[in-house]
Amino acid sequence: MTAYDPDNIFTKIIEGEIPCHKVYEDNETLAFMDIMPQSQGHTLVIPKSGSRNLLDADPAVLADLIQKTRTVAAAVMKATGADGFRIMQFNEAPAGQTVFHLHFHIIPIYEGVPLKPHAGEAADHTALGALAAKIRGAF
Ligand code: 5GP
Repeated sequence: MTAYDPDNIFTKIIEGEIPCHKVYEDNETLAFMDIMPQSQGHTLVIPKSGSRNLLDADPAVLADLIQKTRTVAAAVMKATGADGFRIMQFNEAPAGQTVFHLHFHIIPIYEGVPLKPHAGEAADHTALGALAAKIRGAF
């Protein structure tokens, strides 16, 4: 597998070089709104330490990350009132990975509402900011 390359958009978000609509942060983890959401409330959860995907991640980092993902998912569900959610995680480009820093997608599901395409259309920033504030208030 290709080695982790720290020159990626999520590293820039972690380092504050690129802004994001943050919903959760601690020493190990950052969660923020996906700018091209597949549904209302689509959130990404990433470790601050670098790994390309599931296979090169430190097991301790992974164990922590999935617990944080659950915590964030609970807040996303509370804030959005969604009917369910999917956790997605892509490994390598043929599988759909477009950013090569490990991340889990939390994708709320609304009964009868189809998902938008993966990494498709950018959402309105004001709306994303409002949603992030609502999720932050739901922990
Ligand atoms: P992947 O395709 O690697 O599983 O997921 C990468 C996700 O990152 C996509 O859903 C895409 O919409 C999102 N994304 C790409 N660039 C940015 C960005 O600059 N900011 C944010 N917040 N999300 C991004």
